[in-house]
Amino acid sequence: MIIERDHIGIFGKMNSGKSSIMNLLTQQVTSIVDPTPGTTADTKITLQEIHGIGPVKLFDTAGIDEQDRLGEKKRKKAFSDLKECDLVLLVINPETTDFSTEQSIIEQARAHDKQMIVIFNLFDSDAERFVDVVRQEMPVLKYYPTIIGSAIDLDFRSVLLDFLLKNFQSKNEKLELLPFLEEDEFYVLNIPMDEETPSGRFLRPQSMAQEYITRNFAYPVAYRMNLTKARAGDPEEQTRFNQFIASFNKRPKMIITDSQAMDIMNEWTPDDIALTTFSVMMINYVSRGRLNEFVNGVRTLSTLKEGDKILIVEACNHSRINEDIGTVQIPNYIEKKFPGVSIDYNFGREFQENEHLKEYKLVIHCGGCMISAQKLMARLRDLRAVGIPYTNYGVFLSFVQGSAALKKVVEPWIEQ
Ligand code: SF4
Repeated sequence: MIIERDHIGIFGKMNSGKSSIMNLLTQQVTSIVDPTPGTTADTKITLQEIHGIGPVKLFDTAGIDEQDRLGEKKRKKAFSDLKECDLVLLVINPETTDFSTEQSIIEQARAHDKQMIVIFNLFDSDAERFVDVVRQEMPVLKYYPTIIGSAIDLDFRSVLLDFLLKNFQSKNEKLELLPFLEEDEFYVLNIPMDEETPSGRFLRPQSMAQEYITRNFAYPVAYRMNLTKARAGDPEEQTRFNQFIASFNKRPKMIITDSQAMDIMNEWTPDDIALTTFSVMMINYVSRGRLNEFVNGVRTLSTLKEGDKILIVEACNHSRINEDIGTVQIPNYIEKKFPGVSIDYNFGREFQENEHLKEYKLVIHCGGCMISAQKLMARLRDLRAVGIPYTNYGVFLSFVQGSAALKKVVEPWIEQ
């Protein structure tokens, strides 16, 4: 496997101690440290191996608060480096007062969904008392892991490295789409097509599952359920499904269904065949294995009361039809079961601008098949920081079929 270097950039004001952090991490004088403002004129790059993370490319960027023509160039260069980074280390001297520079770095990091760690660099052992003042000045810092120490204290190196290891997710951490897959076994993909289904291709989660199963020497078999007939209780539709399952020369291992067919598949799937949904598979994959957090979040439903607010989040702006899951099916269920609970929506990139996350009792996110892991992780980080539980469509639609249904669809990934 080719390992790509993680890019870690050190950002902050002039004289905040960025170069000292660089030297601390590299254990050598990589960057010149001097109290003269603007000593780092351009980004210094060092290649290094960090134990536990792997190969990294470290960027020691110039301070971006210099107020002249060269300062403008340095700012542009630093922000262009930021786009390349997987992790932004924001170095703050808490004894300073104007935080517009830090604010602009945070804005850039948020706009590009970057992971960020804040380092309060103490030039004086007494300076820690200013940290709370800085936090009040910049409430957005609550979204990010923060560490306090002195960049010239050699003992701080191991503390900082441990903190990085704990709080940074490397892009090299690969995750299997269906980690439980067994070779030479059949996997049924239940795809109930409707007016919304594009012709000429499968949807991304369906084609990803098909490709993954094939690549791993197992057999994907697509089945088109007629959901309208199945919901209407048409016995011919169930007979067709039963005959399809009976036609295999050995039992399929699992059925992966469109989440909106969970009401039917929960009833029809034989006990000896595992069942899950594309949405559950996808959210586990895009959230880098955090399915359990979405399962924990769905339990909030039982605590909902009149006046509570829910946020439904769809990561793309696909065309919506009558029976749309996010705008019709889930809201209908909530209205029936929890009268007086109101629903807001975020579509596409809207989530990033939502300053009211704290007001919601629960966030229900789609499968996230069209967004990057980086973007979803940035969303989850914000929700965790303000303590708002989250779940997703597949988990929600399984939960409403009962706890046994939820257990069945998440069991392949997590112990209950
Ligand atoms: S990103 Fe979300 S809303 Fe868009 S198609 Fe994928 S699961 Fe559906």
